[in-house]
Order: sequence, then structure tokens, then C-alpha cells
Amino acid sequence: TKRVFTAFKPTGHLTLGNLLGAIVPAVRLQDEADCVYAVADLHALTIKHDPERLRANTREAATLLLACGLDRSLLYIQSQVPAHTELAYLLESTAHYGEMRRMIQFKEKSAAQEEVRLSLLTYPALMAADILLHRVDVVPVGEDQRQHVELTRDLALRFNRLYGEVFTVPEAVHPRVAARIMDLSDPTSKMGKSDGSAAGTVYLLDRPDDIRRKVMRAVTDSGTEVRHDPVGKPGVSNLLALLAACSDRPVESFSYGSYGALKRDVAEAVVERLRPVQERYAELSADQAELSRLLSDGAALATRRTAGLLAEARQAIGLP
Ligand code: ATP
Ligand code: MG
Repeated sequence: TKRVFTAFKPTGHLTLGNLLGAIVPAVRLQDEADCVYAVADLHALTIKHDPERLRANTREAATLLLACGLDRSLLYIQSQVPAHTELAYLLESTAHYGEMRRMIQFKEKSAAQEEVRLSLLTYPALMAADILLHRVDVVPVGEDQRQHVELTRDLALRFNRLYGEVFTVPEAVHPRVAARIMDLSDPTSKMGKSDGSAAGTVYLLDRPDDIRRKVMRAVTDSGTEVRHDPVGKPGVSNLLALLAACSDRPVESFSYGSYGALKRDVAEAVVERLRPVQERYAELSADQAELSRLLSDGAALATRRTAGLLAEARQAIGLP
């Protein structure tokens, strides 16, 4: 079976976009592949952050991933497995400054900041380490991460050529686009946890009334006709996509006479979709000691599973 790795960056509260676009496909994948999931707290250090909030977001994300059903695979917090940073350094020593500087995401994110953390530049080496450490075959990523997976392949091939065959060269796959959920108050931009508007973003732990309010206030389009047309009717189409994803039915199966009726159904479908997740989250949160144990067991297993690869890489590159 194939090994797959997916990381979630705890830069904020997990959103409905994360659930429908990434977590639900990941839950399904557990039946077909050997899956590894990490909450990538080290990646969240590449931009300005608040220490207490990061710790809380990391814990919350890990708990939510379990609550959503990622409980049949290896799940751990990245920083609790030091092999990630250790291998990242070996890969920084394999990568070139020029290729790092050319990464589109680095260019975009660094242009928007006055003080750019050095880790933002070297981030792709850490991401490569995440992937290579687990001898991953397949990396399911969105378009925005394709270049980083390309770089991971380049680094693996270069290391193998220079020092001997150590790494499995991974392949990027685009998951069948489950859903790309747009911001409710700006349906032309993606719903995201760190950018995007609070009013237009549904968080997995939002209270039912807040969910209803956000959906009822969603920006719709001119006219009154409800039809799926992402270009001409981005707002309505986003609502239909949400309804489809939350109720597991095709977009074409819905017919509505008014925006109001559609919104009411979307609100209830989202509330119902999140209800079991929130219930499970509350159960898991009630026993913090058990949660800590689960996460440190995950980290210990990840450390054991990656020790061999790390030792091989150290040996190959010339460390004692
Ligand atoms: P950030 O704003 O920090 O980039 P994010 O919400 O975009 O946060 P990521 O950690 O970048 O979340 O991505 C986690 C996963 O969730 C990725 O697989 C990404 O493709 C998916 N994802 C994020 N937002 C959406 C969305 N609006 N619709 C569908 N999938 C999404
Ligand atoms: Mg993102």
C-alpha cells in the first residue's frame, strides 16, 4: 500500500474549507493507504505568531482532526518529533539559496512583510523533510504546494545522486477536487483560516447560531435565480457547493425558488454536518490527560518509524 503524508498548519482555527477540502478526503484515504498526519506547528513559526495562541491552536487542531475521524492513522504534532528539524538541516545543506529564493510562495509572502523570518525562506526544506522522512510515495496537495513538492523531488534526487540512494522520490497528486469552499462574504476568494474575513468563514467549532448567522448573511449575486454557475453566480454557487458537500448529494440535485430558502437549508446542513464533530471534540477535550497520551504515543511511534531513515541520511552525508 502507498504511504501518504498530510500536514495541517495551525495558523488559526480550522475552517469548513479545511474540513470539506482536506479532512474529509483524508478520512476516506485511511481505508486505501498508509496515512500519516501531522499538525505542522513548526511551519506556523515562519510568520509572526503568538506563543500561547500557537500552542492552543496546535492542540485544538490535533483534537479536531481526531474528532473528524482521522483516528485510524498515525497522527502527531510535528515539533514533538525532532527528526523533522534534523533532516530539514541536512536538506538545507543540499538545497541552494537560489532555488529557495525563487519559490513563488516565498516571493509572495515575503513581499507582504517588513521583517521576513529566515525560516520562511527555508520552509520548503522542512516540508521536504516531512515528506522524505516518512518515505512517502504520494503527496496530495493543492496547486499552491505543487512547486514545493517539485523541490522536494529535486532535493531527494540530488541527495541520492551525491551521497547514495537514501530517499524515496515522492509524487504530487491533486486530489479529485472535493470542494473549494469560498469566503461567504467574498465568494471570489478562498475561505481560509489565516486570511479571509471572520464574517465569511465558518470555523469547525462555531456555535450553531453563529453558523446560521454567517450563512444567512452570505453575499449572494444579483438576480433571484438559483443555479450553479461559479463564474456568473459565485455566491449562489458556493452555497450550492456547500450544501452538496455537507449533504453528500450532487449540486444538480437541488432546485430552489429563492435565495432565502437555499440559505436556510445550507445553514441547517452545515450545522448538522458539524454537530457530530463538535460532540466528539467535546468528548475528547474532556480528558486532556488521555489526549496528551494519544499525541505523545503518536510522536513516539513517528520517532521510531523514522529513526532508520534519519540514520541512513546522517551516515550518507558524512556525520558520525
Ligand atoms: P492558511 O490561511 O494559513 O493558508 P488554510 O485554511 O488555507 O490556512 P492550509 O493549512 O493552507 O489551510 O491547508 C490545509 C488544507 O486545507 C489544504 O489541503 C488545503 O488545500 C485545504 N483547504 C484550505 N482552505 C480550503 C478551502 N477554502 N476549500 C477547500 N480546501 C481548503
Ligand atoms: Mg492555505
